[in-house]
Amino acid sequence: VPLLAARDLAKAHGRTEALRGASVELAAGEILAVTGPSGSGKSTLLHCLAGIVRPDAGSVSYAGERLDALPEKRLSELRRTEFGVVFQFGQLIPELTALDNVALPLMLAGTSRPDAHARAGEWLERFGVRGQEALRPGEMSGGQAQRTSLARALVTGPRIVFADEPTGALDSLATEQVMTALTHTARETDTAVLLITHDAQVAAYADREVRLSDGTVAPEFSTEATEAAV
Ligand code: ADP
Ligand code: ADP
Repeated sequence: VPLLAARDLAKAHGRTEALRGASVELAAGEILAVTGPSGSGKSTLLHCLAGIVRPDAGSVSYAGERLDALPEKRLSELRRTEFGVVFQFGQLIPELTALDNVALPLMLAGTSRPDAHARAGEWLERFGVRGQEALRPGEMSGGQAQRTSLARALVTGPRIVFADEPTGALDSLATEQVMTALTHTARETDTAVLLITHDAQVAAYADREVRLSDGTVAPEFSTEATEAAV
């Protein structure tokens, strides 16, 4: 049974049909790359899968629960406890240090400040942001800021991390450092990753790739095609 499964998702933004019958599955601990041209619906798919946006039609199941039918309260609890998200520009809080940015989700969940700081420090170290704890996002390189964003997304122990072009603003070396840190950590902690990218260098880190085209999964990347090939 997949950890996350979307069936026949449809979602329109005004008159633009961003998704038209997209189906995708993510297994526990799997690293999946979602690729496709700009405008093919990748971000909209991520938003539906992460319970940020409700699809117009179709279903999203997470560990047997139908996200598309959940009351908002339970959905926000799931997002907080089970999911982590990272965007292209990490969206760290500019006024907070790296340490405070990573400690924040723990403190919001009720962890004491000293405990949150201790754990945040461990996660920053894990992501190779050593000795940078006191820097604010504006004082870090793009790669350091994205590794800090990943530490913040993982510090609460989510089962899935959703990353929308996490290296889109980085050069090739920083991309490699971010992707290595992300994939090593995901494997160590058995965290699944759904990664949106249009960069083949990034997609190469994934276990599997699904390509979107005009709001649907290209046939050769559909689960049925994969199963038929096995
Ligand atoms: P991708 O991530 O592959 O670039 P998106 O999911 O962002 O694709 O967008 C799919 C289509 O939906 C595009 O045509 C885009 O312009 C449109 N779209 C996305 N979000 C909105 C929105 N909030 N309002 C209107 N149109 C949108
Ligand atoms: P991406 O390719 O990463 O999806 P976009 O520039 O397409 O980046 O979208 C960035 C944000 O703008 C998204 O939140 C999306 O919902 C919104 N957006 C995209 N296209 C439109 C549009 N045509 N009208 C309004 N909002 C849009």
